[in-house]
Amino acid sequence: MKTRITALFLALMLLLTFGGCLPGGESSSAPDAPETSSEAVSTEEETKEELKLHFIDVGQGDSAFIELPDGRCMLVDCGETEYGETVEGYIKNLGYTKIDIFLVTHPHTDHMGCAAYIIEQFEIGQICMPKADSTSYQYEKMLEAVSDKGLKIKRAKAGVKLIDRQGLTAELLSPVDETYKDKNDYSSVMLLTYGENRFILTGDATSKVEKQIEGDISADLVKIGHHGSKGSSCEEFTKRVSPDFAIISVGKGNKYGHPTKEAIERWEAVGAKILRTDELGDIVAVSDGKQLTVTAGKEYFAADPKDPSSSLSSSEVTTGYVLNTSSKKVHSPECPSVGTIALQNRKDSTETLAKLLADGYTVCGTCNAGEEK
Ligand SMILES: [Zn+2]
Ligand SMILES: [Zn+2]
Repeated sequence: MKTRITALFLALMLLLTFGGCLPGGESSSAPDAPETSSEAVSTEEETKEELKLHFIDVGQGDSAFIELPDGRCMLVDCGETEYGETVEGYIKNLGYTKIDIFLVTHPHTDHMGCAAYIIEQFEIGQICMPKADSTSYQYEKMLEAVSDKGLKIKRAKAGVKLIDRQGLTAELLSPVDETYKDKNDYSSVMLLTYGENRFILTGDATSKVEKQIEGDISADLVKIGHHGSKGSSCEEFTKRVSPDFAIISVGKGNKYGHPTKEAIERWEAVGAKILRTDELGDIVAVSDGKQLTVTAGKEYFAADPKDPSSSLSSSEVTTGYVLNTSSKKVHSPECPSVGTIALQNRKDSTETLAKLLADGYTVCGTCNAGEEK
């Protein structure tokens, strides 16, 4: 960093000294200029340096929204048709009107039922999906929305890099083959890396695909395959991934019996903490490139349980309020936006509301800090 600042200073000096004398245009050709300016932007906006992965509770289905540290965002699946407004509201609440990358893992409606609606409601940078079609109404609607918006579908397959930057990558590990009997196996498995943290999202890929995937797939967090069905999460795969957290996106009391005891036990056997959307609601993982923490409402999970200073067990959080010390908002612990507060800005408080308001806080517009409106 120091050498960078020195370089910037020198470049500025050179510019100031010679800038006026050079013929027009020449002064902007300093080779370091673009790099130093982007560096300056990212340090100004501290909050953009975190990667946040939101597993949105869409009942029996999948939807993950990813806030990238460079300010862009990504949506992986969106759930059944009736969750369109839930997903739209969740993303817009976070301040995004454009989805830079929309990955549809495979054409089952619990993953893309509301895709047409999402495409209509947002500006879409790029849409990516595997070459696997469906005759469902929702699939037809999605293709219609894609063509109405003039979007071109990028084909998802092993080796495709959706993001390839220094310290930030998103690579598709599947589909490996062009034809599968089970539509779930077309699921595009994605490996996302930010600094030292690694994440794997598997769609509904079964163990057939898990065994086809090559390379290093160790990860800190995995969204496990097919809602915890026993046909996914084979022992070999769970051992290779060996994550701290295994997320299961699943609906309460679903008719498929998801998640299965077998899948859960295989992830627990490799030391993973199981976190389920049917039990926790929306789950948010936050990474600064080194450390990973996961929150769900007022529950808080740290990746390294050996460090007591960084771990706050949920039993320590009693009644009271959750504060965002940056936006100066008071939330009730049940407020859905609590899970989206950056960890360094989150504070649990047992102060009275009157005291907090006197301290300059205002109540959240969504939960009204739990008070009657
Ligand atoms: Zn499926
Ligand atoms: Zn599914």
